[in-house]
Amino acid sequence: MSEHTTLTKSGKPFHESGGSVKSVSVISTGTGEAHREHIYGTRKPALWWIFFGRQRVSIPINVYIIEHSDGLVLFDTGQDRAVMTDPDYWPAGLTGFIFRHVFRFHIGPDDTLTRQLELSGYSVADVKKAVISHLHGDHIGGIREILHADLVVSSEAWDHMLQPHSERHFIFRRDIDFPDAKWQRISFQPTDDPSIAPFTHAFDLMGDGSMILLPTPGHCPGSLSMLVRRDGAPPLLLVGDLCYGLELLERCQLPGTGDRKKLRASYAKVLALKERMPDLVILPAHDPEAAGALRKATPTSLGVSQDR
Ligand SMILES: [Zn+2]
Ligand SMILES: [Zn+2]
Repeated sequence: MSEHTTLTKSGKPFHESGGSVKSVSVISTGTGEAHREHIYGTRKPALWWIFFGRQRVSIPINVYIIEHSDGLVLFDTGQDRAVMTDPDYWPAGLTGFIFRHVFRFHIGPDDTLTRQLELSGYSVADVKKAVISHLHGDHIGGIREILHADLVVSSEAWDHMLQPHSERHFIFRRDIDFPDAKWQRISFQPTDDPSIAPFTHAFDLMGDGSMILLPTPGHCPGSLSMLVRRDGAPPLLLVGDLCYGLELLERCQLPGTGDRKKLRASYAKVLALKERMPDLVILPAHDPEAAGALRKATPTSLGVSQDR
């Protein structure tokens, strides 16, 4: 296969594939409460809103479930309930003190990844792969429940975890780098496929063009999104924490954290992709509207609702 390929491994152009995705649904591992400034952005310094911000916004912690003909694929794995039950979950000292002010979680016994999958009619044993948009704690929390599965992350996100003091960025290596975890660190390959322009690099997850990983850095180094192509239903773009809500992306309103220059560049690429694919449905990890948007974009013959 040439380096600049426009074809999937099955020989089909990307835009002609998609029949292998049987359904897409969403679950949430509890809810979080974030500062309003964290979600909507502010000119105030982060330490100001972390300690003095008074308004909180309730957000889901979404995990997307894709039934592919080769097995079940997850996009992100949610927040570990240990944050509620383990007094040593947060690091000691100033870092833990700050995180306790940044995050509030509500995660009941039925909100674990295992239970949420069961309540949706699946089992953790069914999970073949999990794509991790980035390594923040609220996206890797279910990994220990699916250690048999292939775990896919960008090599840049992995390298960021290996930097000193990554725990200060809510990246806890102890919950990620398990000796028996099957991590696959991917690099995006050059592509001139016009259907995903302006993206010039991509990674074909299943080899059939049905799930294409795209680099969308800014929230974290190496953050990625996943384009899901379905037959007979609009394509989906799972964007992780690139933005916290679709309307914020459309307004180019940046959140209170992340690399602003890279966020702006990734926003512009996603919006340009949306212009090429007007029916594209953009689904962030913490958008309260995402579950409804997915349901609306999914014919009953192709997918299950969140409350299946
Ligand atoms: Zn994040
Ligand atoms: Zn998150």
